[in-house]
Amino acid sequence: MVTQLTLNNGVTMPALGLGVFQSPPELTTAAVETALATGYRLIDTAAAYLNEREVGEGIRRSGLDRSEVFIETKVWVSDYGYDETLHAWEKATGKLGVDQLDLLILHQPAPDRFDKTIAAYRALETLLGDGKVRAIGVSNFMPHHLERLLAATDVVPAVNQVELHPYFTQPAVQSTDAESGTLTQAWSPIGGITFYPGWGEHRRSVMDDPTILDIAGAHAKSPAQVMLRWHLQQGRSAIPKSTNPSRIAENFDVFDFELSPEELARIDALDTGVRNGPDPDVARAELFAMVIPEA
Ligand code: NAP
Repeated sequence: MVTQLTLNNGVTMPALGLGVFQSPPELTTAAVETALATGYRLIDTAAAYLNEREVGEGIRRSGLDRSEVFIETKVWVSDYGYDETLHAWEKATGKLGVDQLDLLILHQPAPDRFDKTIAAYRALETLLGDGKVRAIGVSNFMPHHLERLLAATDVVPAVNQVELHPYFTQPAVQSTDAESGTLTQAWSPIGGITFYPGWGEHRRSVMDDPTILDIAGAHAKSPAQVMLRWHLQQGRSAIPKSTNPSRIAENFDVFDFELSPEELARIDALDTGVRNGPDPDVARAELFAMVIPEA
């Protein structure tokens, strides 16, 4: 039975979900259908992943009632601004084939256009007020981004989705999130970004870490299962990505064992303080060149 987390507005969300970044459109529908048949009830997509349509199709093919599946998606930076973000909701719901989103988040801060980031969040507040989304949040927000957002807006983000795995545990983000009542959700929760092909030759994969392997051996579980258990026991949401049916099942088979406080501390101690993904403080004009298609 998957753990449920209660967001700061009372909405409940499954702690463990399926991510679909880099899931090719032709594999995404099947991955979503497999995940839902396995027991997953949270799917994390994004306008920028260009597979919202296939996610919607997978949900419909599952035969589950819409209310049984928690759909999370993200507004891309080129759609930031008040009117643009309201329209981004139309695009996302049109592609997903739904009339309400469970969670809509800003994909990342736009550090050089923070006024547009705020305007986009203002639009999320309107969508929330209108019942078009059940919860709103952010992604890749550092503590200082969150502080600026909180000072300029009314609704505390329900979720902050950030890079978080044993080699990058973001303690400052986790404590700022906790202080404001924002749930931290881990992307690359099993260290995907530490072993993406072509993503840095000398990067160490957390999948091969001796401590993780040792703990996995002690529980007769896999490294991925140990990392997911670590997130869940520390109260985070995690959204591992796979398009492989056996790994989709493996990543959900994490509710029959418990890590000890000592094991959790050993995993915490692996933090290198070095991110593998993009720095949210670096402005990247090229991101704005990506146009999110109409539904
Ligand atoms: P991840 O879930 O940590 O790792 C995914 C990688 O691990 C894939 O290469 C997958 O390959 C492989 N894998 C999955 N299960 C495995 C297992 N049990 N054993 C061994 N390998 C396994 O990394 P991620 O995809 O970067 O992050 C997960 C989700 O977070 C994304 O899909 C997306 O929804 C979200 N995300 C958000 C942001 C953001 O900026 N907000 C950025 C990145 C990701 P196979 O598919 O072949 O199994």
